[in-house]
Amino acid sequence: MGKGVEQMKHYKNKIIYLIFLISISFIFFGCSKISIKIIGDSVLYTGESRALLIQPEKLSNKVEWESNDSNIVIVNKGIVFAIAPGEATVRAYLNGQEATITITVIIPEGASEMVKEIDNFLRDFFPAEASKRIVLPYSGDIKIRQSLVYPNAVTKLRPGTGKEGLKMPGGVKYVVIHDTGMSGAQYNAAGINHYIHEQANSPTGRVASWHYTVGEDGVYQHVPDDEIAWHAGDGSRPYGSTYYNETYQFEAIGGGNQNGIGIETCINTGGDYQLVLRKTAKLVASLLIKYDLEIDAVKQHYNFSGKNCPYVIRTSGLWEAFLKEIEFQRLLFNIDAPVSFTWEIDKPEIIDYNGKVIRGFINDETVNIKMNLNISGYRPTLIYPVKALGLNDRERIDALYQHLKDNIIPQTITESIELPAYSELYDVNITWESNRPECFSDTGGYIKPTQSTWVTLTLTLSFNETTAHRQILVVVK
Ligand SMILES: [Zn+2]
Repeated sequence: MGKGVEQMKHYKNKIIYLIFLISISFIFFGCSKISIKIIGDSVLYTGESRALLIQPEKLSNKVEWESNDSNIVIVNKGIVFAIAPGEATVRAYLNGQEATITITVIIPEGASEMVKEIDNFLRDFFPAEASKRIVLPYSGDIKIRQSLVYPNAVTKLRPGTGKEGLKMPGGVKYVVIHDTGMSGAQYNAAGINHYIHEQANSPTGRVASWHYTVGEDGVYQHVPDDEIAWHAGDGSRPYGSTYYNETYQFEAIGGGNQNGIGIETCINTGGDYQLVLRKTAKLVASLLIKYDLEIDAVKQHYNFSGKNCPYVIRTSGLWEAFLKEIEFQRLLFNIDAPVSFTWEIDKPEIIDYNGKVIRGFINDETVNIKMNLNISGYRPTLIYPVKALGLNDRERIDALYQHLKDNIIPQTITESIELPAYSELYDVNITWESNRPECFSDTGGYIKPTQSTWVTLTLTLSFNETTAHRQILVVVK
Protein backbone atom coordinates (compact mmCIF):
# COMPACT_ATOMS: atom_id res chain seq x y z
CA MET A 1 0.00 0.00 0.00
CA GLY A 2 1.38 3.44 -0.99
CA LYS A 3 1.75 6.37 1.36
CA GLY A 4 -0.84 8.46 -0.55
CA VAL A 5 -3.52 5.88 0.08
CA GLU A 6 -2.71 5.83 3.82
CA GLN A 7 -3.04 9.62 3.97
CA MET A 8 -6.40 9.62 2.16
CA LYS A 9 -7.75 7.08 4.62
CA HIS A 10 -6.62 9.32 7.46
CA TYR A 11 -8.50 12.34 6.04
CA LYS A 12 -11.56 10.29 5.34
CA ASN A 13 -11.77 9.22 9.02
CA LYS A 14 -11.38 12.85 10.12
CA ILE A 15 -14.23 13.96 7.85
CA ILE A 16 -16.53 11.21 9.10
CA TYR A 17 -15.71 12.24 12.67
CA LEU A 18 -16.52 15.90 11.89
CA ILE A 19 -19.84 15.03 10.29
CA PHE A 20 -20.65 12.96 13.39
CA LEU A 21 -19.88 15.90 15.72
CA ILE A 22 -22.02 18.28 13.66
CA SER A 23 -25.01 15.93 13.69
CA ILE A 24 -24.73 15.44 17.46
CA SER A 25 -24.68 19.19 18.05
CA PHE A 26 -27.74 19.61 15.83
CA ILE A 27 -29.62 17.19 18.00
CA PHE A 28 -28.42 18.44 21.39
CA PHE A 29 -28.11 22.15 20.83
CA GLY A 30 -31.25 22.63 18.85
CA CYS A 31 -29.88 23.67 15.51
CA SER A 32 -32.70 21.60 13.97
CA LYS A 33 -36.09 23.19 14.54
CA ILE A 34 -38.70 21.12 16.40
CA SER A 35 -42.17 20.54 15.05
CA ILE A 36 -45.27 18.64 16.23
CA LYS A 37 -46.73 15.70 14.40
CA ILE A 38 -50.19 14.37 15.35
CA ILE A 39 -51.01 10.69 15.00
CA GLY A 40 -54.23 10.91 12.97
CA ASP A 41 -56.51 13.87 12.37
CA SER A 42 -56.23 17.16 14.25
CA VAL A 43 -60.04 17.32 14.38
CA LEU A 44 -61.22 15.34 17.40
CA TYR A 45 -64.62 14.44 18.82
CA THR A 46 -65.29 15.36 22.42
CA GLY A 47 -63.94 12.57 24.61
CA GLU A 48 -61.33 11.43 22.12
CA SER A 49 -57.57 11.52 22.63
CA ARG A 50 -54.58 11.49 20.26
CA ALA A 51 -50.83 11.16 20.56
CA LEU A 52 -48.59 14.06 19.60
CA LEU A 53 -45.00 13.46 18.55
CA ILE A 54 -42.12 15.87 18.35
CA GLN A 55 -39.91 15.86 15.28
CA PRO A 56 -37.13 14.83 15.64
CA GLU A 57 -38.88 12.01 17.45
CA LYS A 58 -36.14 11.18 19.95
CA LEU A 59 -36.79 14.51 21.67
CA SER A 60 -40.45 13.74 22.34
CA ASN A 61 -40.01 12.80 25.99
CA LYS A 62 -37.99 15.92 26.83
CA VAL A 63 -40.67 18.37 25.77
CA GLU A 64 -42.99 20.43 27.96
CA TRP A 65 -46.56 20.70 26.74
CA GLU A 66 -49.23 23.34 27.23
CA SER A 67 -52.75 23.99 25.97
CA ASN A 68 -53.91 27.59 25.59
CA ASP A 69 -57.47 26.61 26.57
CA SER A 70 -57.90 23.74 28.99
CA ASN A 71 -61.68 23.99 28.65
CA ILE A 72 -61.30 22.73 25.10
CA VAL A 73 -58.27 20.45 25.18
CA ILE A 74 -55.83 19.32 27.81
CA VAL A 75 -52.46 17.81 27.04
CA ASN A 76 -50.39 15.47 29.16
CA LYS A 77 -47.08 13.85 28.15
CA GLY A 78 -47.86 14.29 24.49
CA ILE A 79 -51.42 12.96 24.66
CA VAL A 80 -54.08 15.50 23.78
CA PHE A 81 -57.60 15.03 25.23
CA ALA A 82 -60.63 16.70 23.67
CA ILE A 83 -62.87 18.18 26.37
CA ALA A 84 -65.43 20.40 24.65
CA PRO A 85 -66.17 21.77 21.18
CA GLY A 86 -63.91 24.64 20.01
CA GLU A 87 -60.40 25.35 18.86
CA ALA A 88 -57.23 25.37 20.96
CA THR A 89 -53.51 25.70 20.40
CA VAL A 90 -51.16 23.14 21.88
CA ARG A 91 -47.54 24.28 22.41
CA ALA A 92 -44.43 22.23 22.86
CA TYR A 93 -41.32 23.77 24.49
CA LEU A 94 -37.78 22.47 24.32
CA ASN A 95 -34.60 24.44 25.15
CA GLY A 96 -36.13 27.78 24.26
CA GLN A 97 -37.64 26.49 21.05
CA GLU A 98 -41.35 26.03 20.58
CA ALA A 99 -43.73 24.45 18.13
CA THR A 100 -47.51 24.67 17.94
CA ILE A 101 -50.42 22.75 16.53
CA THR A 102 -54.09 23.75 16.31
CA ILE A 103 -56.59 21.21 17.59
CA THR A 104 -60.27 21.43 16.69
CA VAL A 105 -62.85 19.67 18.85
CA ILE A 106 -66.28 18.92 17.44
CA ILE A 107 -69.43 16.93 18.24
CA PRO A 108 -70.58 14.59 15.47
CA GLU A 109 -73.55 15.95 13.60
CA GLY A 110 -76.80 15.15 15.37
CA ALA A 111 -75.00 13.51 18.30
CA SER A 112 -76.30 15.87 20.95
CA GLU A 113 -79.88 15.11 19.84
CA MET A 114 -79.08 11.37 20.01
CA VAL A 115 -77.71 11.77 23.51
CA LYS A 116 -80.79 13.73 24.52
CA GLU A 117 -83.02 10.96 23.19
CA ILE A 118 -81.10 8.29 25.11
CA ASP A 119 -81.07 10.42 28.25
CA ASN A 120 -84.82 11.10 28.04
CA PHE A 121 -85.50 7.39 27.80
CA LEU A 122 -83.22 6.48 30.69
CA ARG A 123 -84.59 9.18 33.01
CA ASP A 124 -87.89 7.29 33.07
CA PHE A 125 -86.23 3.91 32.80
CA PHE A 126 -84.26 3.90 36.05
CA PRO A 127 -86.39 3.94 39.20
CA ALA A 128 -85.84 6.57 41.89
CA GLU A 129 -85.77 3.77 44.48
CA ALA A 130 -84.96 0.09 44.22
CA SER A 131 -85.01 -2.80 46.64
CA LYS A 132 -84.50 -5.89 44.46
CA ARG A 133 -83.36 -5.23 40.95
CA ILE A 134 -82.80 -2.49 38.45
CA VAL A 135 -82.60 -3.31 34.77
CA LEU A 136 -79.23 -2.48 33.32
CA PRO A 137 -79.40 -2.82 29.51
CA TYR A 138 -76.77 -5.20 28.19
CA SER A 139 -73.77 -3.41 26.73
CA GLY A 140 -71.87 -6.36 25.28
CA ASP A 141 -72.25 -7.97 21.88
CA ILE A 142 -74.57 -10.89 21.25
CA LYS A 143 -72.68 -13.64 19.50
CA ILE A 144 -75.00 -16.24 17.97
CA ARG A 145 -73.70 -19.78 17.61
CA GLN A 146 -75.33 -21.57 14.70
CA SER A 147 -76.36 -25.06 15.73
CA LEU A 148 -79.20 -25.89 13.34
CA VAL A 149 -81.38 -28.95 13.70
CA TYR A 150 -81.65 -30.70 10.32
CA PRO A 151 -85.03 -30.53 8.53
CA ASN A 152 -84.99 -34.27 7.90
CA ALA A 153 -84.22 -35.22 11.48
CA VAL A 154 -86.20 -38.19 12.81
CA THR A 155 -88.91 -36.28 14.66
CA LYS A 156 -89.15 -33.41 12.16
CA LEU A 157 -88.38 -30.85 14.84
CA ARG A 158 -87.57 -28.57 11.96
CA PRO A 159 -90.51 -29.12 9.63
CA GLY A 160 -89.74 -29.44 5.94
CA THR A 161 -89.05 -31.89 3.23
CA GLY A 162 -85.64 -33.29 2.37
CA LYS A 163 -83.16 -30.64 3.34
CA GLU A 164 -85.53 -27.71 2.98
CA GLY A 165 -87.12 -26.18 6.03
CA LEU A 166 -90.71 -24.92 5.87
CA LYS A 167 -90.89 -21.14 5.45
CA MET A 168 -93.28 -19.04 7.55
CA PRO A 169 -96.26 -18.05 5.40
CA GLY A 170 -96.11 -14.26 5.28
CA GLY A 171 -92.81 -14.12 7.17
CA VAL A 172 -91.92 -13.28 10.77
CA LYS A 173 -94.74 -11.59 12.73
CA TYR A 174 -93.94 -12.42 16.36
CA VAL A 175 -91.08 -12.99 18.73
CA VAL A 176 -92.29 -15.53 21.30
CA ILE A 177 -90.62 -15.62 24.70
CA HIS A 178 -90.35 -18.84 26.73
CA ASP A 179 -88.36 -20.19 29.59
CA THR A 180 -87.11 -23.74 29.53
CA GLY A 181 -88.82 -24.76 32.76
CA MET A 182 -85.71 -26.90 33.28
CA SER A 183 -83.95 -25.88 36.47
CA GLY A 184 -81.21 -28.53 36.44
CA ALA A 185 -77.76 -26.95 36.64
CA GLN A 186 -76.77 -28.62 33.36
CA TYR A 187 -79.49 -26.83 31.38
CA ASN A 188 -77.57 -23.74 30.40
CA ALA A 189 -77.59 -22.79 26.70
CA ALA A 190 -75.03 -25.46 25.84
CA GLY A 191 -77.10 -28.06 27.75
CA ILE A 192 -80.34 -27.06 26.02
CA ASN A 193 -78.58 -27.11 22.66
CA HIS A 194 -77.49 -30.66 23.39
CA TYR A 195 -81.06 -31.50 24.45
CA ILE A 196 -82.74 -30.26 21.24
CA HIS A 197 -80.28 -32.18 19.05
CA GLU A 198 -80.76 -35.32 21.08
CA GLN A 199 -84.53 -35.05 20.62
CA ALA A 200 -84.19 -34.41 16.91
CA ASN A 201 -82.34 -37.69 16.53
CA SER A 202 -84.58 -39.78 18.77
CA PRO A 203 -87.63 -41.51 17.28
CA THR A 204 -89.45 -41.27 20.64
CA GLY A 205 -88.53 -37.74 21.81
CA ARG A 206 -91.13 -35.02 22.14
CA VAL A 207 -91.60 -32.88 19.05
CA ALA A 208 -90.74 -29.36 20.07
CA SER A 209 -88.42 -26.87 18.48
CA TRP A 210 -87.59 -23.22 18.71
CA HIS A 211 -85.23 -20.76 17.05
CA TYR A 212 -82.93 -19.52 19.79
CA THR A 213 -81.74 -20.56 23.23
CA VAL A 214 -80.30 -17.82 25.44
CA GLY A 215 -78.26 -18.69 28.52
CA GLU A 216 -75.70 -16.98 30.64
CA ASP A 217 -73.16 -18.98 28.63
CA GLY A 218 -74.27 -17.76 25.20
CA VAL A 219 -76.88 -17.80 22.45
CA TYR A 220 -77.57 -20.75 20.12
CA GLN A 221 -79.69 -20.80 17.00
CA HIS A 222 -81.44 -24.07 16.12
CA VAL A 223 -83.85 -23.08 13.32
CA PRO A 224 -83.49 -20.26 10.72
CA ASP A 225 -85.53 -17.16 11.65
CA ASP A 226 -88.04 -17.40 8.79
CA GLU A 227 -88.91 -21.09 9.20
CA ILE A 228 -91.72 -22.64 11.20
CA ALA A 229 -90.87 -24.32 14.51
CA TRP A 230 -93.01 -26.04 17.19
CA HIS A 231 -92.99 -24.07 20.43
CA ALA A 232 -96.12 -21.91 20.89
CA GLY A 233 -98.76 -24.61 21.46
CA ASP A 234 -101.17 -23.20 18.84
CA GLY A 235 -100.61 -25.92 16.23
CA SER A 236 -100.77 -24.61 12.67
CA ARG A 237 -103.31 -21.87 13.36
CA PRO A 238 -102.64 -18.88 11.14
CA TYR A 239 -101.55 -15.39 12.05
CA GLY A 240 -104.50 -13.19 12.98
CA SER A 241 -106.76 -16.05 14.13
CA THR A 242 -108.06 -16.73 17.64
CA TYR A 243 -109.17 -20.01 19.19
CA TYR A 244 -110.20 -21.53 22.52
CA ASN A 245 -107.49 -23.68 24.08
CA GLU A 246 -109.24 -26.58 25.88
CA THR A 247 -106.22 -27.66 27.91
CA TYR A 248 -105.72 -24.26 29.53
CA GLN A 249 -109.32 -23.06 29.04
CA PHE A 250 -107.96 -19.94 27.44
CA GLU A 251 -108.89 -17.63 24.59
CA ALA A 252 -105.63 -17.70 22.62
CA ILE A 253 -104.24 -16.27 19.39
CA GLY A 254 -102.79 -18.17 16.43
CA GLY A 255 -99.64 -17.61 14.42
CA GLY A 256 -97.23 -18.50 17.23
CA ASN A 257 -95.73 -21.50 15.49
CA GLN A 258 -96.49 -20.35 11.95
CA ASN A 259 -95.03 -16.85 12.27
CA GLY A 260 -93.22 -16.63 15.60
CA ILE A 261 -89.51 -16.73 16.34
CA GLY A 262 -89.35 -18.85 19.50
CA ILE A 263 -86.76 -17.93 22.13
CA GLU A 264 -86.06 -20.17 25.10
CA THR A 265 -84.44 -18.49 28.11
CA CYS A 266 -82.42 -20.70 30.46
CA ILE A 267 -83.43 -20.79 34.12
CA ASN A 268 -80.81 -23.34 35.20
CA THR A 269 -79.83 -23.41 38.86
CA GLY A 270 -76.63 -21.48 39.41
CA GLY A 271 -77.21 -19.37 36.32
CA ASP A 272 -77.92 -15.65 36.52
CA TYR A 273 -81.38 -15.14 35.04
CA GLN A 274 -81.01 -11.36 35.14
CA LEU A 275 -78.05 -11.65 32.79
CA VAL A 276 -80.01 -14.07 30.58
CA LEU A 277 -82.86 -11.56 30.27
CA ARG A 278 -80.48 -8.68 29.56
CA LYS A 279 -78.96 -10.64 26.67
CA THR A 280 -82.37 -11.77 25.46
CA ALA A 281 -83.63 -8.17 25.35
CA LYS A 282 -80.80 -7.21 23.05
CA LEU A 283 -81.38 -10.25 20.82
CA VAL A 284 -85.11 -9.51 20.61
CA ALA A 285 -84.45 -5.84 19.76
CA SER A 286 -82.17 -6.87 16.91
CA LEU A 287 -84.90 -9.19 15.56
CA LEU A 288 -87.51 -6.43 15.75
CA ILE A 289 -85.22 -4.21 13.70
CA LYS A 290 -84.41 -6.97 11.23
CA TYR A 291 -88.07 -7.86 10.57
CA ASP A 292 -89.43 -4.34 10.96
CA LEU A 293 -91.68 -5.20 13.89
CA GLU A 294 -93.05 -3.08 16.73
CA ILE A 295 -92.76 -3.85 20.42
CA ASP A 296 -96.29 -5.38 20.45
CA ALA A 297 -94.91 -8.19 18.28
CA VAL A 298 -93.10 -9.48 21.37
CA LYS A 299 -95.37 -12.07 22.96
CA GLN A 300 -95.34 -14.66 25.68
CA HIS A 301 -95.88 -18.33 24.93
CA TYR A 302 -98.93 -17.80 27.20
CA ASN A 303 -100.66 -15.63 24.56
CA PHE A 304 -100.81 -18.54 22.07
CA SER A 305 -102.06 -21.28 24.39
CA GLY A 306 -102.63 -20.14 27.98
CA LYS A 307 -99.63 -22.09 29.25
CA ASN A 308 -97.92 -20.31 32.15
CA CYS A 309 -94.74 -19.64 30.16
CA PRO A 310 -92.33 -17.83 30.48
CA TYR A 311 -92.96 -18.92 34.05
CA VAL A 312 -90.24 -16.99 35.91
CA ILE A 313 -90.96 -13.72 34.10
CA ARG A 314 -94.69 -14.12 34.66
CA THR A 315 -94.53 -15.09 38.31
CA SER A 316 -91.87 -12.50 39.20
CA GLY A 317 -93.59 -9.63 37.40
CA LEU A 318 -90.63 -8.98 35.12
CA TRP A 319 -92.49 -8.63 31.82
CA GLU A 320 -93.06 -4.87 31.70
CA ALA A 321 -89.46 -4.09 32.62
CA PHE A 322 -88.28 -6.63 30.04
CA LEU A 323 -90.32 -4.92 27.29
CA LYS A 324 -88.90 -1.54 28.27
CA GLU A 325 -85.41 -2.95 28.10
CA ILE A 326 -86.12 -4.26 24.59
CA GLU A 327 -87.39 -0.80 23.64
CA PHE A 328 -84.21 0.79 24.88
CA GLN A 329 -82.01 -1.61 22.90
CA ARG A 330 -84.19 -0.95 19.89
CA LEU A 331 -83.73 2.79 20.31
CA LEU A 332 -79.95 2.29 20.26
CA PHE A 333 -80.12 0.09 17.15
CA ASN A 334 -82.18 2.80 15.46
CA ILE A 335 -79.59 5.51 16.04
CA ASP A 336 -77.95 6.35 12.77
CA ALA A 337 -74.35 6.27 14.04
CA PRO A 338 -72.04 3.71 15.66
CA VAL A 339 -73.12 3.58 19.32
CA SER A 340 -71.51 1.71 22.18
CA PHE A 341 -71.59 2.17 25.92
CA THR A 342 -70.32 0.85 29.21
CA TRP A 343 -71.82 1.06 32.69
CA GLU A 344 -70.00 2.33 35.69
CA ILE A 345 -71.51 1.90 39.16
CA ASP A 346 -69.99 3.83 42.03
CA LYS A 347 -71.15 1.33 44.70
CA PRO A 348 -71.17 -2.10 43.04
CA GLU A 349 -71.33 -3.69 46.49
CA ILE A 350 -74.86 -2.22 46.77
CA ILE A 351 -76.08 -2.56 43.15
CA ASP A 352 -74.00 -4.97 41.10
CA TYR A 353 -73.25 -4.92 37.37
CA ASN A 354 -76.23 -7.16 36.65
CA GLY A 355 -78.51 -4.61 38.28
CA LYS A 356 -79.08 -6.73 41.38
CA VAL A 357 -79.61 -4.85 44.64
CA ILE A 358 -77.41 -6.71 47.11
CA ARG A 359 -79.36 -7.04 50.37
CA GLY A 360 -77.92 -6.69 53.83
CA PHE A 361 -76.88 -3.05 54.01
CA ILE A 362 -78.57 -1.12 56.80
CA ASN A 363 -79.22 2.44 55.62
CA ASP A 364 -80.55 3.63 52.26
CA GLU A 365 -77.70 4.29 49.85
CA THR A 366 -77.72 6.46 46.77
CA VAL A 367 -75.94 4.65 43.96
CA ASN A 368 -74.91 6.48 40.80
CA ILE A 369 -75.41 4.52 37.61
CA LYS A 370 -73.12 6.06 35.02
CA MET A 371 -73.44 5.41 31.33
CA ASN A 372 -70.29 6.10 29.37
CA LEU A 373 -71.60 6.59 25.86
CA ASN A 374 -69.65 6.60 22.65
CA ILE A 375 -71.42 7.92 19.56
CA SER A 376 -68.99 8.03 16.64
CA GLY A 377 -66.19 8.92 19.03
CA TYR A 378 -68.22 11.49 20.97
CA ARG A 379 -68.15 10.35 24.59
CA PRO A 380 -70.59 11.97 26.98
CA THR A 381 -71.35 10.48 30.40
CA LEU A 382 -74.91 10.23 31.65
CA ILE A 383 -75.59 9.75 35.37
CA TYR A 384 -78.69 8.28 37.05
CA PRO A 385 -78.88 8.22 40.84
CA VAL A 386 -80.89 5.34 42.29
CA LYS A 387 -81.70 5.09 45.98
CA ALA A 388 -81.12 1.50 47.04
CA LEU A 389 -83.39 0.83 49.97
CA GLY A 390 -81.74 -0.51 53.11
CA LEU A 391 -83.56 -2.27 55.92
CA ASN A 392 -87.05 -1.12 56.79
CA ASP A 393 -87.83 -0.34 60.47
CA ARG A 394 -88.92 -3.86 61.33
CA GLU A 395 -86.00 -5.54 59.50
CA ARG A 396 -83.59 -3.15 61.18
CA ILE A 397 -84.87 -4.02 64.66
CA ASP A 398 -84.80 -7.75 63.88
CA ALA A 399 -81.27 -7.49 62.51
CA LEU A 400 -80.06 -5.70 65.64
CA TYR A 401 -81.78 -8.24 67.91
CA GLN A 402 -80.02 -11.06 66.03
CA HIS A 403 -76.72 -9.18 66.29
CA LEU A 404 -77.11 -8.72 70.08
CA LYS A 405 -78.02 -12.39 70.56
CA ASP A 406 -75.19 -13.72 68.38
CA ASN A 407 -72.38 -11.36 69.28
CA ILE A 408 -73.00 -9.33 72.43
CA ILE A 409 -74.86 -11.38 75.05
CA PRO A 410 -73.26 -14.72 75.97
CA GLN A 411 -75.57 -17.63 76.75
CA THR A 412 -73.81 -18.16 80.06
CA ILE A 413 -73.07 -15.12 82.19
CA THR A 414 -70.30 -15.19 84.80
CA GLU A 415 -69.40 -11.50 84.96
CA SER A 416 -70.87 -8.04 84.47
CA ILE A 417 -71.67 -6.97 80.90
CA GLU A 418 -72.12 -3.48 79.59
CA LEU A 419 -75.59 -3.51 78.05
CA PRO A 420 -75.76 -0.97 75.23
CA ALA A 421 -78.54 1.65 75.40
CA TYR A 422 -78.03 2.63 71.78
CA SER A 423 -76.68 0.93 68.69
CA GLU A 424 -74.82 3.36 66.50
CA LEU A 425 -74.60 0.85 63.66
CA TYR A 426 -78.38 0.37 63.50
CA ASP A 427 -79.38 3.73 65.01
CA VAL A 428 -81.73 1.93 67.39
CA ASN A 429 -82.41 2.74 71.08
CA ILE A 430 -82.44 -0.18 73.51
CA THR A 431 -83.72 -0.52 77.05
CA TRP A 432 -83.12 -3.69 79.09
CA GLU A 433 -85.12 -5.32 81.82
CA SER A 434 -84.08 -8.36 83.82
CA ASN A 435 -86.62 -10.63 85.55
CA ARG A 436 -83.97 -11.57 88.16
CA PRO A 437 -82.20 -8.32 88.97
CA GLU A 438 -80.78 -9.86 92.17
CA CYS A 439 -78.25 -11.84 90.10
CA PHE A 440 -78.17 -9.87 86.80
CA SER A 441 -79.36 -6.25 86.82
CA ASP A 442 -81.07 -4.10 84.15
CA THR A 443 -77.74 -2.42 83.52
CA GLY A 444 -75.80 -5.69 83.25
CA GLY A 445 -74.42 -5.86 86.80
CA TYR A 446 -73.50 -9.41 87.91
CA ILE A 447 -73.95 -10.79 91.41
CA LYS A 448 -72.92 -14.42 91.72
CA PRO A 449 -76.04 -16.52 92.51
CA THR A 450 -75.91 -19.47 94.92
CA GLN A 451 -76.93 -21.75 92.04
CA SER A 452 -77.26 -21.45 88.23
CA THR A 453 -80.25 -19.24 87.48
CA TRP A 454 -82.22 -18.72 84.28
CA VAL A 455 -82.72 -15.03 83.56
CA THR A 456 -84.99 -13.51 80.94
CA LEU A 457 -83.79 -10.20 79.53
CA THR A 458 -86.55 -8.18 77.90
CA LEU A 459 -85.33 -5.67 75.32
CA THR A 460 -87.31 -2.72 74.09
CA LEU A 461 -85.96 -1.72 70.69
CA SER A 462 -87.08 1.49 69.03
CA PHE A 463 -86.36 3.14 65.72
CA ASN A 464 -88.41 6.07 64.43
CA GLU A 465 -92.02 5.28 65.25
CA THR A 466 -91.47 1.53 65.54
CA THR A 467 -90.99 -0.11 68.90
CA ALA A 468 -90.64 -3.84 69.46
CA HIS A 469 -90.04 -6.12 72.46
CA ARG A 470 -87.73 -9.10 72.27
CA GLN A 471 -86.35 -11.52 74.81
CA ILE A 472 -83.03 -13.20 75.40
CA LEU A 473 -82.73 -16.10 77.80
CA VAL A 474 -79.40 -16.54 79.64
CA VAL A 475 -77.96 -18.65 82.43
CA VAL A 476 -76.24 -16.75 85.23
CA LYS A 477 -73.67 -18.84 87.11
ZN1 LIG B 1 -92.93 -21.87 26.46
